[in-house]
Amino acid sequence: VSELDQIRDVVGRIPDPELPAVTLADLGILRGVEHAADGHVVVTLTPTYSGCPAIDAIRADVARTVSDVGYGGVEVRMTLAPAWTTDWITGEGREKLRAYGIAPPDRSDPACPQCGSSDTREISRFGSTPCQAHHACNRCLEPFDRFKPI
Ligand SMILES: [Zn+2]
Repeated sequence: VSELDQIRDVVGRIPDPELPAVTLADLGILRGVEHAADGHVVVTLTPTYSGCPAIDAIRADVARTVSDVGYGGVEVRMTLAPAWTTDWITGEGREKLRAYGIAPPDRSDPACPQCGSSDTREISRFGSTPCQAHHACNRCLEPFDRFKPI
């Protein structure tokens, strides 16, 4: 296993600070791990929503995790272009969100993660985090959060 593959692997498995049910790889936040011209390793991340306050926490988590597996001097870069979209969430990530009770960001109306009904309504534009909206199911009456599609 190459150094870059190993770093990509451990960084990809870091839980999202706001949503520990999914990892940075699940969310598609981890964009690249490569050597810079002078040989040091650069980890490139694209934050999810620009309003999310988790960027500094993610940066610190990545730096500490990589250092813990023996790679010091890794640079963590944030890139905003191209902008992150919910399309980058992997299939596995969508399954984990649903299992956690959060409706994945499908383009159509969200289905209730508890009973699967698509008869749902939005209660609030902001859920547990700014990245989520609060919905309720009209069939089983359970409230749930939905990842906002962008
Ligand atoms: Zn329901």
